[in-house]
Order: sequence, then C-alpha cells, then structure tokens
Amino acid sequence: MRTIRIEASGSYDVVIGSGLLGEAGGRIAALAGRVRAMVVSDERVFSLYGARVLESLREAGIAAAQFIFPQGEREKNLATYGALLETLCRERFTRRDWIVALGGGVVGDLAGFAAATYQRGIPFVQLPTTLLAAVDASVGGKTAVDLAGGKNQVGAFHQPRLVLCDTDCLGTLDPEEYRCGCAEIIKYAMIGSPEFFEEISRTPVREDYEEVIARCVGMKRDCVQADEFDTGERMLLNFGHSFGHAAEACSGYALPHGEAVAMGMAVMCRSAAAAGFCSEETADALLALLRAYGLPTEIPYGAEALAEAARADKKAAGDSVRLVVPEAVGRCRIETVPAGELLAWLRRGGVQ
Ligand code: NAD
Repeated sequence: MRTIRIEASGSYDVVIGSGLLGEAGGRIAALAGRVRAMVVSDERVFSLYGARVLESLREAGIAAAQFIFPQGEREKNLATYGALLETLCRERFTRRDWIVALGGGVVGDLAGFAAATYQRGIPFVQLPTTLLAAVDASVGGKTAVDLAGGKNQVGAFHQPRLVLCDTDCLGTLDPEEYRCGCAEIIKYAMIGSPEFFEEISRTPVREDYEEVIARCVGMKRDCVQADEFDTGERMLLNFGHSFGHAAEACSGYALPHGEAVAMGMAVMCRSAAAAGFCSEETADALLALLRAYGLPTEIPYGAEALAEAARADKKAAGDSVRLVVPEAVGRCRIETVPAGELLAWLRRGGVQ
C-alpha cells in the first residue's frame, strides 16, 4: 500500500493498493464523521463494485443514496449532470454530505463537477476503477462535462478530500481500457522521465500496477502543486491532448479518450521531428512504445476538421494555441502557436 499526499488548495491523500474499496466507509468516516453519501457510478462499474462500496459505507454507519447512469463518454454531459444535481436536491443533501465517485474518468469528472457546484461546493471522494482514472483523472481536481461543441468545456477546479485507488478493480478491465490507461502512462514518461519510459518499455505496466500508479501520481502531484490552476507547468500534462481532444470531438465522443491521446501524441511527435523540435529517434521511440501497447498512431479524421476542433479546445487563447511539443524522451515544452498554423502542424504529423 502506498500513500501520496497532495498539497493544493485542498490537501488530501491518494492511497494506492489492494482491498481499498472495502475500506472506503471507514476511511471516509475517519475524515467526515457520520455524513450521508451519494454514490455516483456508471451501470457497468456499479454492477461490479457497487455492493462492496455500499456494504463498506453501511458498516461505517454512513447512509448512502445512489445515482447510476449508463457508461460512456457520451453521458458526460449537461443532462446527466443536471439529473445528478436534481437527485442531490431531492434527497436533501447538504454541504456536510459527501459524493462518492466510483468509476473511471467519466464518473470522476461528472461527479466532481456536481460536487464543485452543488450548493456552491460539497466534499467528494474519488474511487477510481480504471487505470486511466487511477494514474490521472482522479487526482488534481479538474472536473468537467462535455458540450456538443467541445470536450470538457464546462467545469471547475475542485479537489477531492480523498482518493482510494483499489488495484483489485483493474483485474476486470477489458483490453481496450487497459490500453487507454497505458496511453496516459506513456504520456507521463514522455513529459517527465526517460528512466520511467525505459522501465515501461522493458516491463509491461500490468506487472506492477501499484508501482506504476504511484510513479504517475507522484509526477502529477508535482505538476499540480507547482501550478494547480493550469497556467504553466501543469499544461505539460496535456501532451497529446490538443489533437487527441479534437479527434474525440470529430468522432462524436465515440473514440476512447486514451486511444485519442495516443493518436494525438503520435501526430505531435512526427510533426515535432519534422520541424526539428526533436530528433527522428525520439519520435520513433514514442511510436514504437505506443505500438508495443497496442495503441493507434494514426488519426482517422481529416486535418481541416481536426484543426477546427482543436481551435475550440481550452488550450486555445485568443488567436493562438498552446501545444505541448516533445524535445526528447522525458522532456517536453510548451509552444505558443498561431491558430492558423494548426493545419500545418497536423499535416507535418502525417494527417491528410
Ligand atoms: P470511463 O470512465 O468511460 O471508463 C471506461 C469504461 O470502463 C466504461 O465503460 C466503464 O464502465 C468501464 N469500467 C470502469 N472501471 C471498470 C472496471 N474496474 N472493470 C471493468 N470495466 C470498468 O473512461 P476512462 O478512460 O476511465 O476516463 C476517461 C475520461 O477521463 C474522459 O472523459 C477524460 O476526459 C477524463 N479525464 C479527466 C482527467 C482529469 O484530470 N480530470 C484526466 C484524464 C482524463
């Protein structure tokens, strides 16, 4: 079991290890006392892990209500968010009560945004059940839902009070979800650590989840503590996301987030190599690692549609866009680029 402390506008522990869902009630009660809890989850996750969490809450004397919605990114929208708020209100939840987000990044982002805004903010705990949510989405306090016009376009910064990452959950992920988590893990290695890049090239991530998650959460802690509100260093975590988010939007949110990030990193690396920001060897190393984990390296949409979608992303500011550009394995930098040049970046990265 590992514990990593995050010191941000709210400070909290991220606990990583086996058996944590069964300890959720006791750990929440230790922080909050005998509050009420709204368990927010998607249908698939709730059918697998809901009973375990409800039992743990009951044993700790925490009365629980539940809000369960169909799984998938397309549900991370204003309608589901509104329905959750109405449920909290109908159940007479107060600012003392807690939201318990049980699921992947979709559940965490949606439940977190409801926690950030219901009665101007109530506490919440993250119980991430995907690899992607464990290494990235559950930590750092970014919460959001999508609009038809763009991903994560409405949201808030709201730190959880606790993150319990039960590695036992990862055993039921299907191969696609595993791959998606690996895409974000490769991102961490690419922005911050050639040694970690080497390690995950040598040893598959699934062989030591606890260690890999702890490494990623440690890197995320450093970014969040340096720049909680995403105006500088934290933006490095967006490597692969400008074009990845654009691909997700072009797919009508059918493309899994992790796969989209893999595509975005691949295009960015090819483009950066062609423009001389990094060597061909750097781009080849990233492409080889993505392929080794079964991740896609081509974007199946046209450059013009992607450039248009990327302009709508939050990383745009006025007429310019901030791109995260690789310089070497383990080192990236933020490059401010005129929005009009996005098309050229995509074309140089092999998108037609
Ligand atoms: P997800 O939440 O949609 O989960 C993927 C699928 O896996 C779903 O069908 C879900 O039901 C299923 N699932 C979850 N846990 C399972 C388990 N243990 N066993 C079997 N099936 C399980 O997607 P995700 O990849 O976890 O998260 C992607 C989302 O996270 C995107 O919306 C992305 O924008 C967001 N995100 C947010 C941040 C942040 O900082 N807030 C960071 C990265 C990504």
